[in-house]
Amino acid sequence: MANLPEDLERLRLAAHSQIAAAQDPTALEQLRVALLGKKGTLTATLRGLGSLPPTERAQAGERANAVKKELEEAIAARAAALEEARRAGLAEQEWLDITFIPQDEGYGHLHPITLIMREIRAVFSHIGYTVAVGPEVEDEWHNFEALNIPAGHPARDDMDSFYVGSGALLLRTHTSPVQIRYMEQHQPPIRIIAPGRVYRRDYDATHLPQFHQVEGLCVDSDIRLSDLKGTLEYFARSIFGAERRIRLTGDHFPFTEPSVGVAVSCGICGGAGCSSCKRGWLEILGAGMVHPQVLRNGGIDPARYSGFAFGMGPDRIAMLKYNLPDIRSIVEPDVRFLRQF
Ligand SMILES: [Zn+2]
Repeated sequence: MANLPEDLERLRLAAHSQIAAAQDPTALEQLRVALLGKKGTLTATLRGLGSLPPTERAQAGERANAVKKELEEAIAARAAALEEARRAGLAEQEWLDITFIPQDEGYGHLHPITLIMREIRAVFSHIGYTVAVGPEVEDEWHNFEALNIPAGHPARDDMDSFYVGSGALLLRTHTSPVQIRYMEQHQPPIRIIAPGRVYRRDYDATHLPQFHQVEGLCVDSDIRLSDLKGTLEYFARSIFGAERRIRLTGDHFPFTEPSVGVAVSCGICGGAGCSSCKRGWLEILGAGMVHPQVLRNGGIDPARYSGFAFGMGPDRIAMLKYNLPDIRSIVEPDVRFLRQF
């Protein structure tokens, strides 16, 4: 049997250097098990106590327990030191400057056209209108003929079109074809708005090749021009302010009879005329009573039903509401302009 006190002292010294060398909690725990666990080296040494003569046994046992306690404390101290070092490292890697104030210019917001489109939808949804949609690539029947615009009609020249492929299809020049498509699928009562993109070959300070329209259609029994006027007055006041008035003037569109141009009173002079509006009134949309033939083309009997329709340019509504001098600013990527909204 080897000399137990010497073995114990050798084990004690070796254990201290191993504990000091442990670099992380996992290695330290493995070391603890190897030293003090059930099959650990110190445990094995303690088992050797039984073979000692009784006189030496008590003293050696006392010493062995002291070593065990010492090593347990050394492991605990090393664990605490490793944890301390870990936290110090975290403070270095994950520090947070609580005095830092981020600049708010990184926040996004909605585009003025999106804002005005949402507002228009909300205004009409309050009076029972739902949203209808149609294809942007349209056929000539829905875009022209069904709306009383036969081939050779001068209105086709006003709406210089982008044709697709061999020419049977085109990018819709207005949202009015959605009226026809909706009537084909639904009988009155009909109350819809059809917001969407439309396309014409035009580009200057007041025209874009791709712009937006919101079409409106109301068909029911006994719908009159006064219903149209009340609806659009409600609309204009909701968008521009309760003090605003609307004015209907005679106009001409192939798909309505009679047709009217609708203007809203200037917000600055109230309709008297000023340098901002020139004549006191600002054109906002075209409208009229749906032409009986258009109702028929949509599968609705004009002897039983009547209706009104209107079409507006939300780009123009936004220009008036936000005082934009040039429609092109709406599509140009100038953040100085967009930040105003
Ligand atoms: Zn004015």
